[in-house]
Amino acid sequence: MRALTRLSKGNIKKKTPVRDQIEATKDIDRYEMGWYGRRSGPLNPAATKRTEDEVIGRNPRKGEIRSIHTHPNFRRQMLLENSAYPSSFDLTSWSIEAAATDLRYFHVASIGPDGKVMGYFSYAATKKFIEFSKIELKYYHNYEKFEHDVPQFILNLERRLCSEKHASGRAFRESEVSEYFVKKGYLAHRITPMPGYVFSKDYGFFVKA
Ligand SMILES: [Zn+2]
Repeated sequence: MRALTRLSKGNIKKKTPVRDQIEATKDIDRYEMGWYGRRSGPLNPAATKRTEDEVIGRNPRKGEIRSIHTHPNFRRQMLLENSAYPSSFDLTSWSIEAAATDLRYFHVASIGPDGKVMGYFSYAATKKFIEFSKIELKYYHNYEKFEHDVPQFILNLERRLCSEKHASGRAFRESEVSEYFVKKGYLAHRITPMPGYVFSKDYGFFVKA
């Protein structure tokens, strides 16, 4: 597996500037937040609007290669919805961004009810993902043509996401989508629990060790 930027190298288990920056953000326990980052250095805020379920953000700038956003876990029902995984909406949005910008790395930070990072889900785009994304971008507004080279699974997913709101995109298991991308070689993946936490595959979120 290829390295996933400094964020996910071994030193992440120590308190890092990135983690400090995330945890110092206002209302981080409750509202999603998003940033873009260059290869190193502090994260640049990307959010123009934050809610409990999504973050609306600006477009990435040239040289910003990583995206990171949070998934708060203060509501118990979210814990049963694979909250550590990127949502299907997350992945398809990134796919579109990756086709047009430098964003090659994508991280989801799970935030505990105490406002602390419980763990990260990190992805690196492969060449296959970028190529796929370019096709997707080209046909984004014309799904009828978006048939060759695209598995039916993704096609169905896309149609569903287009016709429903972000929240209802959570109705099917998020793990199915990202695991499909990883299995087929579109994405490299790393799960990084913070000290004191483990990832529960059964529930799709981080739990206290
Ligand atoms: Zn998300």
